[in-house]
This record gives sequence, structure tokens and C-alpha cells, in this order.
Amino acid sequence: MIEEKGILFVLSGPSGVGKGTVRKALFEKDTGLKYSISMTTRPIRTGEREGTDYFYRSKEEFEKMILNNNLLEYAEYVGNYYGTPRDYVEETLEAGKDVFLEIEVQGALQVKKNFPEGVFIFLFPPSLEELKNRIVSRGTETEDLVRNRLMAAREEIEMMDAYDYVVVNDKIETAVQKVQSIVRSEHCKRERV
Ligand code: 5GP
Repeated sequence: MIEEKGILFVLSGPSGVGKGTVRKALFEKDTGLKYSISMTTRPIRTGEREGTDYFYRSKEEFEKMILNNNLLEYAEYVGNYYGTPRDYVEETLEAGKDVFLEIEVQGALQVKKNFPEGVFIFLFPPSLEELKNRIVSRGTETEDLVRNRLMAAREEIEMMDAYDYVVVNDKIETAVQKVQSIVRSEHCKRERV
């Protein structure tokens, strides 16, 4: 088999759809994927850890990263910055390993411009009602934030056509299996002897 660059997988979709849960369940399996930890200016939540869930940075530090072109993509989402550190992604792909991003829609569309060969997966909520229930039941957001997140979700769903795959997240295990199948089939597509 010829050694090639790794594949960039991007899991995206509206906030509250369960991207984080699907990603965590996926990484409990032996997929060989490398997760790119994002940088954010949002406050750390209970149970989260610096360098595991996110790299938590001040707005000033984040803006310096933007100016120095250190981010592959970034977005301002519901009042905070979120972004993907460039070096980790580029170096890991170069080393022949697959990289997995879990990011919101504006960021995913930016990545698509720079990495059109990436594989873009849209995680779709079973319904908007269910999405609202999930955002509310997470209990970490105020009423205003819930409303903003839901509004963002409606806009994000309109971007679905730009993606290679759509996975409906009605059951986590099934969604994870589908993402795994996508990873496997993308490898078969690129396999050359
Ligand atoms: P949360 O605050 O709930 O952790 O994340 C809010 C949203 O930001 C989620 O949709 C999450 O997928 C997205 N997100 C996390 N990391 C990144 C990133 O590096 N870039 C972008 N564009 N979005 C991100």
C-alpha cells in the first residue's frame, strides 16, 4: 500500500444535536482517528478540563492566534470564539494519520474551502423540537442563550447541502456506527496498491 496523507474528517451540525456525545462515543472505539482539540474563549464548564475538552484562552490570546494565522478556521458562536489550531491538523495529516474535527457549521464551511478533499459529515437532529429539548435539558444555558442557540441551529440546518454525508442522530450508538462506516468507506475509496 502506498503511504498517503491522512484524511480530514469534519463532524458538524447544530449545537445540541449531540456532536460532542457522538464524538466521545466514537473515540472510545479503536478508529485510529486523532481528535483535534479546539481553542475557545468560552468559560470552562464543570467537569471539563483544559487540554482535554478545549484549550481555554482569553479573547486577546485568541485574537493574536487569528492575526498570526495560527487557526485553520474559527467562528464566533453565541458570543464566544471557537477555533481549530492549524499546526496540529497539518502535521498529523502529513504524518499519514486521520484527523477528526467536531465543529459548528460556519467553521466547517471555512475548512471546506481550504480542504475540499476533507470528508464533511452533518449530524442531523431527529427534529427541531427534540433539539430544543436537548439544549434545555443540558441545563448549562440561560433562557436567552437557549433561544440564541436554537436560532443558530435553524440557520445551520440550511447549510446541510454543502456536506458529503448526513447522519440522523436519533440513537447515539447507531449514529456512531454510521460515522465509523463513513470512515471505513473513505479509506476504501483512497486505497491504492
Ligand atoms: P460548546 O460551547 O457547546 O462546547 O460548543 C459550541 C459549538 O462550538 C458546538 O457546536 C461545537 O461543535 C462548536 N465548536 C467546538 N470547537 C470548535 C472549533 O474549533 N471551531 C468551530 N468553528 N466550532 C467549534
